[in-house]
Formats: sequence, C-alpha cells, structure tokens
Amino acid sequence: MNKPVRVRFAPSPTGLLHIGSARAALFNYLFAKHHNGTFILRIEDTDRERFVEGSVEQIVDGLSWLGIEPDEGFWNGEHIGKHGPYVQSHRLEHYQAVAQQLIDQGLAYYSYISNEDFAKAKQDAIDRKQPFVYREEFEPKQKPAASDGYPIRLRIPKGRTKWSDIVYGDFDVDNATVDDFVILKADGYPTYNFANVIDDHMMEISHVIRGPEFLPSTPKHAILYDLLEWVRPKFVHVPVILGPDGKKKLSKRDGDVDLMDYKKQGFLPEAIVNFLVLLGWNDGTEREFFTLEELVGAFDATRIQRSPAKFDIERLRWMNGHYIREGIGLQDLTERLVEYVPQDWLKDEEYFIDLVALDRERIKTLADAQQLLEFFFVDPHYSPELFAALPDKDAAITGLTATLDILEGFSGGHHELEKALRNLAESHNIAAGKLFGALRIAITGRTQAPGIFDTILMVGTERSVERIRRFLSILRKQ
Ligand code: GLU
Repeated sequence: MNKPVRVRFAPSPTGLLHIGSARAALFNYLFAKHHNGTFILRIEDTDRERFVEGSVEQIVDGLSWLGIEPDEGFWNGEHIGKHGPYVQSHRLEHYQAVAQQLIDQGLAYYSYISNEDFAKAKQDAIDRKQPFVYREEFEPKQKPAASDGYPIRLRIPKGRTKWSDIVYGDFDVDNATVDDFVILKADGYPTYNFANVIDDHMMEISHVIRGPEFLPSTPKHAILYDLLEWVRPKFVHVPVILGPDGKKKLSKRDGDVDLMDYKKQGFLPEAIVNFLVLLGWNDGTEREFFTLEELVGAFDATRIQRSPAKFDIERLRWMNGHYIREGIGLQDLTERLVEYVPQDWLKDEEYFIDLVALDRERIKTLADAQQLLEFFFVDPHYSPELFAALPDKDAAITGLTATLDILEGFSGGHHELEKALRNLAESHNIAAGKLFGALRIAITGRTQAPGIFDTILMVGTERSVERIRRFLSILRKQ
C-alpha cells in the first residue's frame, strides 16, 4: 500500500516570502489536497545569523492570504499536529541525538580543522585546479582533548548515489564529488542539510517538493537517508523562475518581492494562485483560468515542467483584470476595494457600487480604483496636456457652451441624454466624437473614462455643469 501523502513547505524565516517560495507552498498544498494528504508548515530557522524578526508572521500572512492553510505545523503561534514541534530551533535535541548516533556508528566525525587550515586546503585545491571536496585527511593529526564546541561532519562513503526526481528524472552522482559536510555546527545547531532530512523522516514526509536551488543538495540528503537506513521520500524539484526576458533569474526588479506586496498593489489572491501555479505547470491543455478547487482536482505533479518558467507581470495584471471582471461578484469586488480607496468614498455605499460597476472593465488591480474613480469625488485639475489633446478649440467652446443649456435642469436618463447631445452635435455641425471628447476632458479631467453619458449622470448634472463652466473659462484664455 502506498504511504499516505504528507508534504511540507519548509521556509527559512530569512525575510520575504518570495514568489518562488510561494509557488513551492502552493504546489505542496495542491499535491496534498489532490491526494487527500497532509500539508505541513515547518519553519527552518537554524541559521540564526540570517533570521529576520517578523518573517514567520509574514509567511503565515502570505499563506492565509492565498487561502492555503496547513493541516499541521506552526500556525499562528501554535504547533498543530502530532509531529511537532514544527520549528527547527525547538527540535535541537533530535538533531543532536542523531548526530551522536552517527558518531557512535563511525559514520560521522568531529572536525577540528582551524579556519586557516581549511582556507589553505581549499586554496591548494584551487591552485591545482581540482574541485575542493572535504575529507577526513584534512583534519589535524593532533586532536584536542575534548570534542565540545567542535562541529560534526558526515563521513561520505565511497560509491555512487542514485535517485529519481519526479520532474528532473534520474540522477547518478559519484560520492567522490560530495563533501564530508557539517551536520552539526560548533554551537550545537544543525545545518540545513541535516535538520531537513531528520525532520522529513520524523514528520513522515512522503514527497519533498521544493525549488530547483535545492537540487545540488539532494545527493547529501540521499546519502544521509541511506546511512541512517531510512526510506527516502520522493523528490520533486520544480523549475527555475526566470525574469520576463526569459534569460536571467527572476530578480527583485522583475517583481520578486514579498508576496504581500502583491496584495498592497491590489492583486487578488485568486489571480496570484492561478498565475503561480502556471509558472511551470499546466493541465495538458491551453486552459488559463482555474479556481483553487479546480486546481486541487487537476493537479498532477508529473505535469510539472522541467524547463524554466517565465515570470511576466503583464500576464499577471491581465489575469487579475480577468478575475476583477468575471472571477468575483460585484459585491465581493466592492468589499475588497474598501481597503484601497479613501474611506469617505464609502459613505454612500450604493453610489460606490454603481461606480465600481461602471468602471469594472478598466480596473486591473484593486489599487487602480482610486486613480480611476477619483474624478467622481474630486473636481479635476486640468493639466496643459489636456488642452493640447483637444483637436478643435472653437468646436469645443461651442459644443460645451451649448451642452450647458441641456444639462441645466436635466432630469432624464442615459437614453434621453444621449439623444439630446447627439442632436446638439448635429445642429452645431460638430462631430459627435469631438463633442464627447471635449465633455470627457471637462468633466473628468482625463482623456480616458467610462462612457460619457453614464459619466455625466454619475458625476451629476449639476456638478458636470460647474466643471464645464470652469473648464470653459480656462479654455477661453488658452
Ligand atoms: N529551508 C529551505 C528554504 O528556505 C527549505 C528547502 C526544502 O524545502 O527542503 O527554502
């Protein structure tokens, strides 16, 4: 019988929850849910120098925002599940015990080499154009009386190590290329390579799904499993994420910022989930939109690609626009916008909902809404470029002046307004498009806005009249 599926997302709290980590979390979650398995969050905080205060909370916030909460693990300050604690710095005795066991079995040794001698041995190898692989022969002949305060290294056995990665296929590595790496540091803390394996074993992890940067460490992990006579998990390394040029690794400038920055920028978690999962995975068709539930149903790890994925923020914006237009309801959209617009815009909730409905097509991110809807609340400023955008000043003055007569005391709807303005354009011999363009600029202070009739009605005829008057007085002086 197959072992139950248990997977983990094992971030190091060293700062931001990057795009690549968020994708690893998502792949783990989907794999677990697809197989009715367990998704675990383990915090790998043994590198005390790189620890950044607040990053555990940031990880929790990011996962909650995406809607991928763990079934087990360290969550909101609690260790949830039978295999805890789930924070590595709380598990030191386990690592120390296994390190001691390896020493007792002759599979590991205390390392007494000084930093200077280590550097010298390394330089020697470089001078000889040889790869530097640490072995016990570099150890000093004279050993100190006590081993306390010295690191422990694994004694890498001779031979070859083979494994099969679900994504990258078969590997066959000569152990001669693998260092006798440190498993326990002088301060009693484990290294990543050691703690990771001990925990994956103790937490009964069935599949290790993680970023491609850990592929080179996998021989070390595999050797450790073998020496400890533990069954290895299956390895699933996901593809590299490249920047939009498809050449360089994704950088901060291309958008590899903290996941929560995407929230601040007004992206919907639904769009982020959809976008992230398609960075290196597809369901075998051209399908581009999935809900989280649909992804759970469709997620097949063997369809994760090996070839690098390309991160394209424009594609994300496009997806986000899709979710804003059709992925969520109007009421839901309005509620999500609350955080992104000035609070006094919400005094008349119905009015706000109507505005959102009117401009929904244009909103690509929630943060766009403020700029897009601003003219409904704040009288526009007319920049010099706007006057330059008017093709025909005289026609604009004539048309706008005549419009004032129509709008004053106007009480009809969209249809009546459209008819009246089209008639006006015709009777004054002005192209309708020119008139509407001038009206748009006068009423909204911009050249792009929703349809002019709805805009006038939503701004209100009275305020539209005031704006047209003010615009005309400036225009006449141009
Ligand atoms: N702690 C590693 C990281 O920061 C986890 C690697 C793994 O999943 O094995 O990403």
